[in-house]
Amino acid sequence: KAQAAVKIAKRSGKVEIYRNGVLKEAQRRFSIESRLRTALAQGGLTLAFQPLIHLPTGEVNGFEALARWEDPDLGHVSPVEFIAVAEESGLITPLGRWAAYEAAQALSRWDAKFGQRLPVGVNVNLSPIQMARDDVASMFEESLRYSGIAGDRLTAEITESAIIADPDKARKLLFALKDLQMLIAMDDFGTGYSNLASLHSLPIDILKIDRSFVSTMLEDRDKGAIVRTILSLAESLNLAVTAEGIETQQLADALQKMGCGYGQGFYFARPMPEAEAFDYWRARWNFETV
Ligand code: C2E
Ligand code: MG
Ligand code: MG
Ligand code: MG
Repeated sequence: KAQAAVKIAKRSGKVEIYRNGVLKEAQRRFSIESRLRTALAQGGLTLAFQPLIHLPTGEVNGFEALARWEDPDLGHVSPVEFIAVAEESGLITPLGRWAAYEAAQALSRWDAKFGQRLPVGVNVNLSPIQMARDDVASMFEESLRYSGIAGDRLTAEITESAIIADPDKARKLLFALKDLQMLIAMDDFGTGYSNLASLHSLPIDILKIDRSFVSTMLEDRDKGAIVRTILSLAESLNLAVTAEGIETQQLADALQKMGCGYGQGFYFARPMPEAEAFDYWRARWNFETV
């Protein structure tokens, strides 16, 4: 592919421009890798927490933990970019361990602030590369033990590609996470090679419908049909559903009417720092019902 691009570039006399582009890309990748290594060693990453909302009641059910990185040299780097570099470089292992540990610690800090167990959980993203390389079950076990929180407070977000990559390994891991009482969510559902048999035979609790279906489902009939299909599949298999990328009240209302249990998106809240997430939860918590 790269060679073909060089040929085309040569033909059009654009080879220098092309070379510079490739060089710039490689330099950027290299500096992200080395700066990320430093950030991981020096505590330069943070977690942001985005609320997961129970659509029928509007209550905060939990938060998704999302890695954030503000580098002194590079500025803000999107997780889409640095997670990819972490996966290529092997840094995904320490990054993933940090995220699991930090998510569990955030829960224990919230519990301490509240004076009792907060009725929310946190979702932690797992990369397929991390699942292939690391012992993710003992990673979670250690995070839980260290923070003293119960396993049912954590949800692992996995993707379809992790199951395809090594079905046996994925199966063992998911059952090990269930032994820890954790929940398992299938992230970005609908974008991968949906293996319906694995949904049935693996201990999956939640389907997260990818934003690409949700955000345009009211204008695009096909997207709407896909969302409806996922909802009825989930109902048959007794799985909970979270719709990602809800940006308007109209979407939130429509999804709730369609029977979608949970939602996440900028309409409710953007990912926010740990202390703000706690305040967000507390402001919405109905003390009457406890
Ligand atoms: P994801 O797991 O699918 O996370 C949801 C992404 O959608 C987040 O992007 C979130 O900020 C964004 N989002 C939520 N609601 C809306 C909305 O209403 N509109 C739009 N346009 N976007 C919305 P973010 O934080 O940039 O993360 C991107 C991806 O990076 C994540 O996608 C996840 O795959 C990966 N990632 C982030 N943190 C971690 C981590 O700690 N470990 C691993 N392995 N991956 C992570
Ligand atoms: Mg996710
Ligand atoms: Mg997602
Ligand atoms: Mg996504």
